[in-house]
Amino acid sequence: MDIVNHWINGAAFEGESTRTGPIFDPALGRVAREVRLATTGDVDVAVAAARAAFPAWADTSLAKRQAIIFTFRELLNTRKLELAEILTAEHGKVISDALGEISRGLEVVEFATGIPHLVKGEYSENVSTGVDVYSTREPLGVVGVISPFNFPAMVPLWFFPLAIAAGNSVVLKPSEKDPSSSIWMAQLFQEAGLPDGVFNVVHGDKVSVDALLEHPDVASISFVGSTPIAKYIYETGSKHGKRVQALGGAKNHMLVLPDADLDLVADSAVNAGFGSAGERCMAISVLVAVEPVADELIAKIASRMSSLRVGDGRRNCDMGPLITREHRDKVAGYIDIAAEDGAKVVVDGRGIAVDGESDGFWLGPTLIDAVPTTSRVYTDEIFGPVLSVVRVATYEEGVALINASPYGNGTAIFTNDGGAARRFQREVQVGMIGINVPIPVPVAYYSFGGWKDSLFGDSKAYGPDAIHFFTRQKAITRRWLDPSHAGVNLGFPENK
Ligand code: NAD
Repeated sequence: MDIVNHWINGAAFEGESTRTGPIFDPALGRVAREVRLATTGDVDVAVAAARAAFPAWADTSLAKRQAIIFTFRELLNTRKLELAEILTAEHGKVISDALGEISRGLEVVEFATGIPHLVKGEYSENVSTGVDVYSTREPLGVVGVISPFNFPAMVPLWFFPLAIAAGNSVVLKPSEKDPSSSIWMAQLFQEAGLPDGVFNVVHGDKVSVDALLEHPDVASISFVGSTPIAKYIYETGSKHGKRVQALGGAKNHMLVLPDADLDLVADSAVNAGFGSAGERCMAISVLVAVEPVADELIAKIASRMSSLRVGDGRRNCDMGPLITREHRDKVAGYIDIAAEDGAKVVVDGRGIAVDGESDGFWLGPTLIDAVPTTSRVYTDEIFGPVLSVVRVATYEEGVALINASPYGNGTAIFTNDGGAARRFQREVQVGMIGINVPIPVPVAYYSFGGWKDSLFGDSKAYGPDAIHFFTRQKAITRRWLDPSHAGVNLGFPENK
């Protein structure tokens, strides 16, 4: 069986580990290949390669770095279908969705091509007589990136292009569930002219993550994954003196006011609830309907759900399988919990007819009405194609519900009332807000990140926050002495 190796110093690296993990083809329901799970020693080799490559890369002119990023962008855009096929084979999402993921990642590469502008410093002339002050931005050194299974291309692309453009070298530890796209991107970057050792990929589990968190030569950690692990990463990385940004899980609510266009709401709820089988951190998982719209809305959503084709992502379906059999079973278990907790299962996705192999990890779109907010169906991040409906009497009750959630990643309001939307934008305690937009993922020149348990640290991903995160500033105070300068003076320097 094929084994996916690490990528260190511009070449495949087997390392010393005897441990491997399975990579499934979720639509076929069987193991397609294996991935190496690194030892601490393997991680040391990757960090040493990145450390050795750093000084020359940091010293490479902005013009040369920019040219390499441009070439990487061109190659990625031209060959994105190859990458989409890898994503579909290992993650299961349908090809059109995989291409969508890549296009959102490409946006970040395009933003990174502007690196000469992005790292510009500031300059103040004559702050005191004959004295000027200016600032510069320098790369951190070796930076670590740890990514989740659900966006195997886009989430790494949120970080490594900007980190590298800013002059850092990178060790990426992708999800062990779908690791091949990272290797493909590292090879492509080499083809674009990136020097060996600047971008390294190690595969693994907790062992490799802990090795990165504790390594003295790793300057920062960028993490995306579930909330308990994000919190652990933030605490452990900080304890080891690193700069850390750790993006966690979510439970995203969509608030529907009675004046909203219910056809737009129904389309949006279906797209945002079931796209990528609900395995998106910005998926809508709770629809909060301000009465009296719930009955009509549920009928419209259920009718759209009946036309969704579930099956192998290579067969032009709308929705693919879940990532593993265990995850599928866990998500399906919430449908039983819903019934036990007194909710009403309107559409049950179990046993749905699929266009694919019977062993695939299938679960059809599921809609549950009247979900009690005490139920685990409401409180847990399910991360599957399960959309809950909670009915409320007023706007205020809806906002209070959203603000009581420990998560604060994304939310949306659907209304035609501009005043209500403006009030929502100001009152809701969430990092990314959509107004008649269900998945408000900011464009690449803003930054992506939630509030509360959805982000630990003070920096969001990509956009301006990434430049702040991946560089350190120096402030330089300079004067050129006049031949007639005043000589020794032990007083505290004052501005004159
Ligand atoms: P996960 O937390 O299980 O894994 C994320 C990464 O952490 C992987 O690389 C994994 O190998 C590693 N990891 C797992 N367990 C670990 C442990 N005990 N110690 C150290 N490292 C460990 O997440 P996942 O299941 O791969 O991804 C889904 C989660 O990611 C969801 O909660 C989703 O909301 C979240 N997510 C968040 C965002 C965001 O931007 N906030 C984006 C995408 C996904």
